[in-house]
Amino acid sequence: MINRIAVYPGSFDPVTFGHLDIIKRASEMVDTLIVAVLVNKAKTPLFSAEERVNMLRSVTKDIGNVRVESFSGLSVDFARRQGAEFLVRGLRAITDFEYELQMAQTNRIMAPEIDTIFLTTNLKYAYLSSTTVREVASYGGDISRFVPKEIEELVEAKYRGKR
Ligand code: ADP
Repeated sequence: MINRIAVYPGSFDPVTFGHLDIIKRASEMVDTLIVAVLVNKAKTPLFSAEERVNMLRSVTKDIGNVRVESFSGLSVDFARRQGAEFLVRGLRAITDFEYELQMAQTNRIMAPEIDTIFLTTNLKYAYLSSTTVREVASYGGDISRFVPKEIEELVEAKYRGKR
């Protein structure tokens, strides 16, 4: 039997309803979906990789075929090591398109056996990004419409600590 595996890479700093929507839909398309938290040494994230992995595990615990891991380096190398056939990315707006297309084409040259699947965002979440969530929360704004309750509490606690 074939086990179709896809990797959904990203920063997820923090995970939002937009990411969760992509995770749910992608998980229905494959046997195993690996949500992969990128450890990017060049950026200082709000949440450590371990915290981001734990948050993602918690909000995806009811989806049976989702696994959450962290990785550093190239997404295609991680995908290859996991035996994945696909990378999954979400497309919100035309502004995502140019960058995503370039990435997908580069990845395809590096790993022709791995295809990128783009899922278009649910319009409800098209405006939503982790950056917006961090920005709103940093000024004490309400982020309850952007992230699950447990994530809201963790984000707010981070900024309380910073103020
Ligand atoms: P990255 O730093 O790789 O862009 P993100 O965590 O911001 O990581 O996003 C990971 C993936 O999720 C990207 O493909 C991005 O386009 C997608 N994504 C982000 N926000 C949303 C959203 N609101 N709806 C759908 N997809 C989204």
